[in-house]
Amino acid sequence: MGMDEPREASAEQAALHTCRSAKVPVTLSGHDYRRAHDACHSAAGLWNQAVDWVHAEWRGGRSPGKYDIRKLLTTMSASERPLHAHSTEAIAYDLHEAIKTSRTNRKNGMKVRAPWRKKNYRPLSFSKGYGWRISNDRLNLSLGRRRPRIALPIPVVVDSGSGEVVAVEAWGEIQLCWDIDAREWSLHIPYETTRETSTGNAVTAVDEGIINSMALATWADARTIDVTVINGREARAIKRLRNKSVGALQHKISRAKNGSKHHRRLVAAKKKVKAKADRSLRDFDHQVARKAADHVIAHDSGRLVYGDVRGIEQKTKKRRSAGRHQRQILSQWSRGRQERYVDEVTGLEGEHLDEARSTKTCPACGARNRPAGRDYRCKNPDCGFACHRDAVGAINILQKAIHGTYVPIGPDTTIRVTYLRAVERWSFDQRNAHRKVQCRKARALSSAQNRASSGEIPSSEQRQAQSSTSPSGPDQLVAVA
Ligand SMILES: [Zn+2]
Repeated sequence: MGMDEPREASAEQAALHTCRSAKVPVTLSGHDYRRAHDACHSAAGLWNQAVDWVHAEWRGGRSPGKYDIRKLLTTMSASERPLHAHSTEAIAYDLHEAIKTSRTNRKNGMKVRAPWRKKNYRPLSFSKGYGWRISNDRLNLSLGRRRPRIALPIPVVVDSGSGEVVAVEAWGEIQLCWDIDAREWSLHIPYETTRETSTGNAVTAVDEGIINSMALATWADARTIDVTVINGREARAIKRLRNKSVGALQHKISRAKNGSKHHRRLVAAKKKVKAKADRSLRDFDHQVARKAADHVIAHDSGRLVYGDVRGIEQKTKKRRSAGRHQRQILSQWSRGRQERYVDEVTGLEGEHLDEARSTKTCPACGARNRPAGRDYRCKNPDCGFACHRDAVGAINILQKAIHGTYVPIGPDTTIRVTYLRAVERWSFDQRNAHRKVQCRKARALSSAQNRASSGEIPSSEQRQAQSSTSPSGPDQLVAVA
């Protein structure tokens, strides 16, 4: 059962052209660093001049177009415009685009102004072949004729979908941006790619959560359901660490004198902590998505169904049912981003399904139970179904996705649960725990060795210490229920 209702799907493998963008951090040498900053300030200056000019034209009853703005900027002398001609053009086009967007939004009833704010900083655009080019095994960014280029090692661009390296030929217009929070330079490199969509008949259901980021369930055959549970412990550790550091810094900031050097430094430190945590969390979400996509692709699923928990992470302030800490955990849950990444990698468009009671309903008989601890045990004496709690939600969502309701899976179904860790390294907690064990072991050994060297026979303590196994590393566990 389970597979007897194949979904009508187009059989041919669909390959779609899409444009993605990669963000690659780069380190600039002292001299280039300074020049890049100056160029970004100059770019902002040009933007400001163009904005002023456009507003003056409007006041005079004229309506300058895209090429009028471009002409204004490109006809400036080289000293007024220390950028490549194409970088200058990009500023004009961006401004024109921003004006157009504001007009459309106003037409749609939104309250928006045409660009007016003075900018202090603008990213630099480098067009393909002119603004940027590869020579002497370096990526050269041009700041205009007769000015030295900014030369960087050729960055490695990895496609977020396939995980493969993108060839230089596929890159488009590169932007050099300064991340004010992380205080680092990065290249934004757009590229063309094709994505293959999985078009099999199988359905994969996804149950999302905080403790386990995702649990995925798919019928492997008529008698077996494969469940993959991806642990979210790494993300919790990152968030906990960040909240703690930010809280401590915030406390110091509140006590520092506003505007003082000390205050500025603390604010910069706080931004840095946040930026670092953001990077780690984005990486974590990518890892979760990669593992989830592996499950989907391995089962050749053509349909992806998420239990609908959208909105839980929002409006947590009004939600009084949860405690303060629980609300904080919920509001910092990056569920939407993980879904987007999974959709991106698999090429499927995830659906959402009401998941009410999915974690309580017994998959075998339909009885309602309240799970206690990590195990799910059905209280119905005729049923006695037992399974890992993490799998139950996903199995129920799977049945609902196929049949419309929580149809029991039948008594002789095997549930294969695979536990994966999103990031294959030890979390902070684990490392700490391991360190403690090691310390204890080392102490036990040394004292036993001391005694042994002083003529005593090795104690049972030493033998135990040598035979005790270290906690399991980042390997996967397979459990069959
Ligand atoms: Zn039951």
